[in-house]
Amino acid sequence: MTIHLFGPDRQRVGYEDQEWAVWVLGLDDVHPKQTLSEALELAAELNATFAELRLRDSSEFAPVMYAVVLHRGYAWNQAVEHSFGLDCGHPDCGPCSFSRTAPKVAS
Ligand SMILES: [Zn+2]
Repeated sequence: MTIHLFGPDRQRVGYEDQEWAVWVLGLDDVHPKQTLSEALELAAELNATFAELRLRDSSEFAPVMYAVVLHRGYAWNQAVEHSFGLDCGHPDCGPCSFSRTAPKVAS
Protein backbone atom coordinates (compact mmCIF):
# COMPACT_ATOMS: atom_id res chain seq x y z
CA MET A 1 0.00 0.00 0.00
CA THR A 2 1.35 3.38 -0.98
CA ILE A 3 0.29 6.43 0.91
CA HIS A 4 0.70 9.84 -0.66
CA LEU A 5 1.56 12.06 2.25
CA PHE A 6 2.66 15.14 0.34
CA GLY A 7 1.80 16.71 -2.96
CA PRO A 8 -1.40 17.36 -4.90
CA ASP A 9 -2.86 13.88 -4.38
CA ARG A 10 -2.06 13.74 -0.70
CA GLN A 11 -4.25 11.60 1.53
CA ARG A 12 -5.53 12.50 4.94
CA VAL A 13 -4.18 10.08 7.53
CA GLY A 14 -5.33 11.80 10.72
CA TYR A 15 -8.32 13.80 11.87
CA GLU A 16 -9.41 17.12 10.43
CA ASP A 17 -10.45 18.48 13.84
CA GLN A 18 -6.94 17.97 15.23
CA GLU A 19 -4.95 21.05 14.37
CA TRP A 20 -1.62 19.42 15.16
CA ALA A 21 -0.67 15.80 15.67
CA VAL A 22 2.16 13.37 15.13
CA TRP A 23 1.37 10.27 13.15
CA VAL A 24 3.57 7.18 13.21
CA LEU A 25 3.65 5.25 9.97
CA GLY A 26 3.96 1.54 10.69
CA LEU A 27 2.06 1.73 13.97
CA ASP A 28 -0.76 3.99 12.75
CA ASP A 29 -0.54 5.90 16.02
CA VAL A 30 -1.80 9.46 16.26
CA HIS A 31 -0.55 11.71 19.06
CA PRO A 32 -2.45 15.01 19.29
CA LYS A 33 -0.36 18.10 20.11
CA GLN A 34 -1.17 21.70 21.02
CA THR A 35 1.33 23.45 18.79
CA LEU A 36 3.49 22.95 15.74
CA SER A 37 6.70 23.17 17.77
CA GLU A 38 5.51 20.46 20.17
CA ALA A 39 4.58 18.25 17.24
CA LEU A 40 7.94 18.83 15.54
CA GLU A 41 9.75 18.05 18.77
CA LEU A 42 7.93 14.75 19.25
CA ALA A 43 8.38 13.77 15.59
CA ALA A 44 12.12 14.48 15.77
CA GLU A 45 12.45 12.46 18.96
CA LEU A 46 10.48 9.51 17.55
CA ASN A 47 12.43 9.54 14.29
CA ALA A 48 15.73 9.48 16.16
CA THR A 49 14.46 6.48 18.14
CA PHE A 50 13.27 4.69 15.01
CA ALA A 51 16.60 5.31 13.27
CA GLU A 52 18.43 3.82 16.23
CA LEU A 53 16.17 0.75 16.23
CA ARG A 54 16.86 0.38 12.53
CA LEU A 55 20.62 0.45 13.13
CA ARG A 56 20.34 -2.28 15.76
CA ASP A 57 18.03 -4.48 13.73
CA SER A 58 18.77 -4.10 10.05
CA SER A 59 16.88 -7.24 9.01
CA GLU A 60 14.57 -6.69 6.08
CA PHE A 61 11.67 -7.90 8.21
CA ALA A 62 12.05 -5.17 10.78
CA PRO A 63 9.14 -2.79 10.39
CA VAL A 64 9.87 0.59 8.87
CA MET A 65 8.53 3.31 11.14
CA TYR A 66 8.67 7.03 10.95
CA ALA A 67 6.84 9.96 12.40
CA VAL A 68 5.29 12.80 10.44
CA VAL A 69 3.69 15.99 11.71
CA LEU A 70 0.02 16.28 10.78
CA HIS A 71 -1.83 19.55 10.30
CA ARG A 72 -5.60 18.97 10.28
CA GLY A 73 -5.01 15.34 9.37
CA TYR A 74 -2.59 15.91 6.51
CA ALA A 75 1.18 15.47 6.62
CA TRP A 76 2.58 18.89 7.34
CA ASN A 77 5.03 20.53 5.02
CA GLN A 78 5.23 24.27 4.83
CA ALA A 79 5.76 24.45 1.07
CA VAL A 80 2.87 22.08 0.33
CA GLU A 81 0.48 24.06 2.56
CA HIS A 82 1.49 27.21 0.71
CA SER A 83 1.03 25.56 -2.68
CA PHE A 84 -2.58 24.82 -1.70
CA GLY A 85 -3.01 28.44 -0.63
CA LEU A 86 -3.44 27.33 2.98
CA ASP A 87 -2.13 28.83 6.16
CA CYS A 88 0.93 26.72 6.96
CA GLY A 89 0.30 27.26 10.66
CA HIS A 90 3.88 28.28 11.42
CA PRO A 91 3.73 31.12 13.97
CA ASP A 92 6.70 32.91 12.39
CA CYS A 93 5.70 32.53 8.75
CA GLY A 94 5.61 36.04 7.27
CA PRO A 95 3.04 35.65 4.48
CA CYS A 96 0.69 33.55 6.61
CA SER A 97 0.97 35.84 9.64
CA PHE A 98 0.03 38.70 7.35
CA SER A 99 -3.15 36.97 6.22
CA ARG A 100 -4.17 35.94 9.74
CA THR A 101 -6.46 38.90 9.94
CA ALA A 102 -8.64 37.71 12.80
CA PRO A 103 -6.77 38.66 15.96
CA LYS A 104 -6.75 36.21 18.83
CA VAL A 105 -8.18 37.99 21.83
CA ALA A 106 -7.17 36.64 25.21
CA SER A 107 -10.01 36.91 27.68
ZN1 LIG B 1 3.10 30.04 5.81
